[in-house]
Amino acid sequence: VSAAHVPRQAALVAVGTELLADGRPDTNAVSIGRLLSARGVATGLRIQVPDDEEEIARMLSQAAERFPLVIVTGGLGPTVDDVTREAVARAFGAPLSEDPAALAALEAGMRARGRALTPAGRRQALVPRGAEILPNPVGTAPGLCLGTASGARVFLLPGVPHEMQRMMVEQVLTRIEEMLGAPLAWRGLKAAGLTEVQVQEHLIDLLASSPSASLTLLASPMEISIILRASEPREADRLARRAAERLGEAVFTDDLESGLESAAGRILAVRGETLAVAESCTGGLLGELITRVPGSSQWFLQGWVTYSNASKVSALGIAADLVEREGAVSEATAELMAQAARRLSGASHSLSISGIAGPDGGTPEKPVGLVFIGLATGDACVVTRHLFPGDRETVRLFAARTALNRLRLALDGRGAP
Ligand code: ATP
Ligand code: MG
Repeated sequence: VSAAHVPRQAALVAVGTELLADGRPDTNAVSIGRLLSARGVATGLRIQVPDDEEEIARMLSQAAERFPLVIVTGGLGPTVDDVTREAVARAFGAPLSEDPAALAALEAGMRARGRALTPAGRRQALVPRGAEILPNPVGTAPGLCLGTASGARVFLLPGVPHEMQRMMVEQVLTRIEEMLGAPLAWRGLKAAGLTEVQVQEHLIDLLASSPSASLTLLASPMEISIILRASEPREADRLARRAAERLGEAVFTDDLESGLESAAGRILAVRGETLAVAESCTGGLLGELITRVPGSSQWFLQGWVTYSNASKVSALGIAADLVEREGAVSEATAELMAQAARRLSGASHSLSISGIAGPDGGTPEKPVGLVFIGLATGDACVVTRHLFPGDRETVRLFAARTALNRLRLALDGRGAP
């Protein structure tokens, strides 16, 4: 690694004209940035480059001058617009030649699909001099890894997001950790209902007490991922334990991949209890989140999507005049929705959601973002009133996750009912 490099930082280069011209978002940069961040590597530069050999080559040589680590996605496929390999050869003076092992792997892959390797497909076996081949277990184009004269390490990965992700996790991250020397230790926590600023305030003096400690926060509606890093595993453990104590009941898991639906489901499963839901403005999102959890059939019985007033009456048996008088978005309607869902399904608990997701439909009394959430257990039912910020999708996600969080807290014996 050269002295000119910004230490522990990476440049992410996304190749593809569609990322510039058609507004396709560079989600690869987002997911690679997260994976690196959790390992103490910051993203120092993020660029999108069209499928233009000269332009890619220019950007790659600049990135490799400044950053010890450059991760490139896209343009490794068989079509004529896939020119990342040629650009790398040009940028780093590493001529391409056909690699027999890569060619054999390509041929075997095509044979398995009952097809023959075309001359265009054969280009994917071209390897820049000195590069290591990274096999692609879920697609055709292999990845590549090479060192540059400036001492940088450059990884080339396919553009297809799930192929890229799999190769990052299985092959690239371990190489990066080796390259950076002793990996930093890190621990994750997820908390519900706190903002980034609130988490930071809770943890700031804890971080100050440990010279090697650092904190990364990734916020999404209602859920925040907290990544604590330290120079050694014991210190990371201590930080995570203290942070969890301070954040208290807001913390619901130490698994960054797991959401509130899993946290609530785990408790239901342990207790042998069940859940039903009745949703209006979330249109099935709550049921969707719940049924993403493997094994949710053990505790999730039924969901109703009662979007119209008439369906609240016909499917849930709510009195028409009450919906008329109080409005569909009201404490009374949310309460009756929850009670009906529980009674009709026979579940131990039920959740209901009724609100105004926007962008239209708000009034001064009932603005966009107003959501009522009911939680019924036995004969008891408590409705809470919320005013969520953000656009339609954000309000809906806030509503569904807040419902799950209320259930989780109630099951934990904190909060009502
Ligand atoms: P393939 O072997 O499939 O041709 P490739 O390396 O050539 O892979 P591309 O052709 O550039 O990759 O992209 C394949 C798909 O992945 C396209 O649908 C593209 O829009 C998508 N994609 C490429 N880069 C990104 C990115 N940075 N973020 C999100 N999606 C991307
Ligand atoms: Mg392609």
